[in-house]
This record gives sequence, structure tokens and C-alpha cells, in this order.
Amino acid sequence: MGFEYAPAPESRAIVDIKPSYGLFINGEFVDGNGTSFKTINPATEEVLAEVAEASDADVDEAVKAARRAYTRVWSRMSGAERAKYLYRIARIIQERGRELAVLESIDNGKPIKESRDVDVPIVAAHFFYYAGWADKLKYSGYGETPLGVAGQVIPWNFPLLMLAWKIAPALACGNTVVLKPAETTPLTALLFAEICQQADLPPGVVNIVTGAGETGRAIVSHPDVDKVAFTGSTEVGKAIARAVAGSDKKVTLELGGKAANIVFDDAPLDQAVEGIVNGIFFNQGHVCCAGSRLLVQESVADEVLERLKRRMSTLRMGDPLDKNTDIGAINSGEQLMRIRELSEIGDAEGAERWEVACDLPTKGFWFPPTLFTGVSQAHRIAREEIFGPVLSVLTFRTPSEAVEKANNTPFGLSAGVWTDKGSRILSMANRLRAGVVWANTFNKFDPTSPFGGYKESGYGREGGRHGLEAYLKGADQ
Ligand code: NDP
Repeated sequence: MGFEYAPAPESRAIVDIKPSYGLFINGEFVDGNGTSFKTINPATEEVLAEVAEASDADVDEAVKAARRAYTRVWSRMSGAERAKYLYRIARIIQERGRELAVLESIDNGKPIKESRDVDVPIVAAHFFYYAGWADKLKYSGYGETPLGVAGQVIPWNFPLLMLAWKIAPALACGNTVVLKPAETTPLTALLFAEICQQADLPPGVVNIVTGAGETGRAIVSHPDVDKVAFTGSTEVGKAIARAVAGSDKKVTLELGGKAANIVFDDAPLDQAVEGIVNGIFFNQGHVCCAGSRLLVQESVADEVLERLKRRMSTLRMGDPLDKNTDIGAINSGEQLMRIRELSEIGDAEGAERWEVACDLPTKGFWFPPTLFTGVSQAHRIAREEIFGPVLSVLTFRTPSEAVEKANNTPFGLSAGVWTDKGSRILSMANRLRAGVVWANTFNKFDPTSPFGGYKESGYGREGGRHGLEAYLKGADQ
């Protein structure tokens, strides 16, 4: 039994959500063509604001502004000068951290303790880190010449963090940006636009155009965009790769995953259970590198499952703004439907569902922490990205079997290994086809560390020195 906690809500008075938002083009908020859409709070279904939907013509205006800023100002500025702006943005993000975290939780549904303690601090760290590179590009190994205008399209699971991953390296390298946040989570990107104004960033260096898939398509297919950076579904990633094929646009794609979190019998089990919980229930499982397949060694499977279920029963689900909340709301009705559908497919395929017994709020989009046992590799719940708080449990007997099962996926973004033996960690890491392998931990992020995938998880790396490569012309050009 868990403790009963008194409500501890974070005040939302710190954020000022306007009734409507325009597009941020050339340093100013403009109306655009007049069409708009609503963004809602997924925990309550309350309409938060009306947001402009950018048309092809609006995107064209944004790209023109970015091009002007690129040729006249940003690409001519020294790296040290560009760094000053990035440092300024990083400091303002820290100063306005609480406001950003509250707004992120309201628009996205993620618990405040995650937006406050994970998302926003890493966002600031990313800007600080790439600010440090701006005047040191000649040591990067990738040259010093920017590409031009970057078109960037990001998803809804980490709205501000994905923005930082895209914008910070682009600007540090001397590129200008047109970025589209996801349709369901535009508000923190628009607050970031205000921060760009506050930092006196030259107009047109960052442009934020809101909209849905069509707006994203207009950005990536715009002829004057030199570089496309996308994070989202494999399906849209493939469409983008097709759309830019034959052009000389440089592309990075960060797509889905179906990571194996592998627990050996010599692992510290309580620690591993925490890692399993963090791996799949962090951010409601809306994480591309989520440890959505638990591979547990057969000899400890019963014990791990028993401890895992006990731990899952203590997770607190509910108001994202409550500081005690572990699991917030699913980001949209559409995503909830997808999670339900795949879970029902799991039932139909013969896997056994276990979920935490809890009262779900009557309004908003909710799904309880869930695990499936009796999962085989052929099951769709073991192969497809559910992108929700649903764990598929499989077992293995030998390290080779674990490797074979872990690699038996079209994806290759991340993996986790839990064992007491350092040598086993190294040998597993060598054999796992995953861009990131965590050992005795999971979902650890740092701006200095490159992140990206193999196979259908995409190509290119974000973060670290490697993240600069995507925004520079290359040392020998
Ligand atoms: P999408 O790939 O559709 O969305 C990612 C971004 O791309 C959004 O900004 C979206 O706009 C935009 N977009 C959509 N269509 C196009 C297009 N043709 N050209 C350019 N940009 C486009 O993901 P969804 O939000 O639809 O989620 C579907 C599934 O994808 C999830 O259930 C999950 O499995 C997976 N996913 C994986 C992510 C990851 O990080 N690996 C992140 C998000 C989703 P808009 O928001 O308006 O649709």
C-alpha cells in the first residue's frame, strides 16, 4: 500500500496563456493567413488557446526571413558573438524555468516534476553547451561553414527539449531556423519565441510556424531550405526522406524505437526495477527510446515481475501539475486510441495484461501503467512502438539469446543492460544494434552525449560534438 498524499499542486498563475497566438516570423508575431486550430490541456480537455495555422505562403515568408537573416547577419557574425546570444537565451530559460515547466505540463500532460527537473534543465544545458561550441567550430572536425536555412519539425512528447536539440546546434553553427512544433503542443515553442525577443536575437534567426502535418510538409519541401531536421514517427520520416531525395538538402531523422531493457540474474534487482519503471513509465511512455521490451533472464523473471508489480502499484497518476504525480495524461485523444488499440491487439494475440488498479479521472486522456506477460517476439506489441505506458515482458536464458531477441526489431535507437559484471556490459554493448546503450541506468540524457539510431530509427546524431556535423558543410568542402 502506498501513502496517501495530500494534493501539492504547482500554481499555474505564473503562466500567462493568451487567448490566441500568431506565427513568429522575422522577430515578430504575425497573424498569418487567418486560419487557426485549438490547443487543449490533455489532462482536462480545456481549450487553452487558439493558434495560427501556417499555410504554404506563411512558411514561405518564414523561410525568406530566415534566408535574409542568414545572409545579412547571422552567417557573418563571429562565433563568439553568436555565443553571446545563445548564452543569453540559456540564462533566460533558467530564469523563466518555472514558467516554462508549468506551461509544458499544461499543454503536454507530463508531470511537473519531470518538466521542472528533467526537461527544462536539459533545455538550458543544451543552449549552454552549444554556446560553448560557437567560437570553437574549427576544432569540431566538421569544418566551420554553416549550411544556411534549417527547416525543423518536432513532435509532441518533449516539445521544448526537442526544440532545444534542434535550435541550439543550428544557431551555434551559424544557420538560421524555421521550426514547427507539434500541433498538440505549440505553447512552449511560442514562449521560446518571446525569449528570443527578450534576448534581442536578430529578427529572422529563429522563426516558429505553428500548424499540422501540412505545415511540416511545406517546410521540408520548401526549395530554399538547405537542411531538414525531423523527429517523429518512422512513417512520416520515410515520407520526408522520399520528399527530399534528389535535392541537395541535408537531412537528419530521429524516428521511433522499441528498445530492449535487458535484466540479467546477477543484476541488483531493486535498482533494475527502478530502471524498468523509469524506462517505460517516464513521460507516460511517450519516449522514442523507451525501454518498452523488458527482457528478463528466466531464473529471476518471477521475482522481477513480483517486485515490478509492487512498485508499479505505488505510482501516482493524476494532475500533471501536482508535484507528487508520477504519471500524467496521455498527450491526445488520438494517441490514447492508438495505445488502446495496440493493447487490445496484445490481448487478442494471447498475451496476458496486468494493469495498476486506479481510478482514472473522468475528463482528459488517461491510460494506467500496464504490462503484458506471455509475449512472443512475433506479437505486434513486441514489434511496434506503442508510445504509451505499456511494457511487453519477454524472457531469455543466455546472453546470446538476449542479444538475438533485443536486435530482432526494425528499430535500433536504444537499449539497457542490467548486470553486476562490467565485462558483460561491454560485450553486450558491442553486440546490441542500438545508438545508445545504458548500463545499470536508463533514459539518461546529457547535452555532451550524442543520441540517434540505427536502421528504421533514423540517421544522424543529435547532441555532443557529433551533433554539430548535421549543421556544418564538412571539413573538406
Ligand atoms: P508524426 O511523425 O506525425 O509527428 C511529428 C511531427 O511531424 C509533428 O510536428 C507533425 O505535425 C509533423 N508532420 C506530420 N506529417 C508530416 C509531413 N508529411 N511532413 C512533415 N511533417 C509532418 O507523429 P504523430 O504525432 O502522428 O505520432 C504518431 C506515432 O508516431 C506515435 O504514436 C508514436 O508511435 C510515433 N512518434 C514517435 C516519436 C519519436 O520521438 N520517436 C515522436 C512522436 C511520435 P502534427 O503534430 O501536426 O501532426
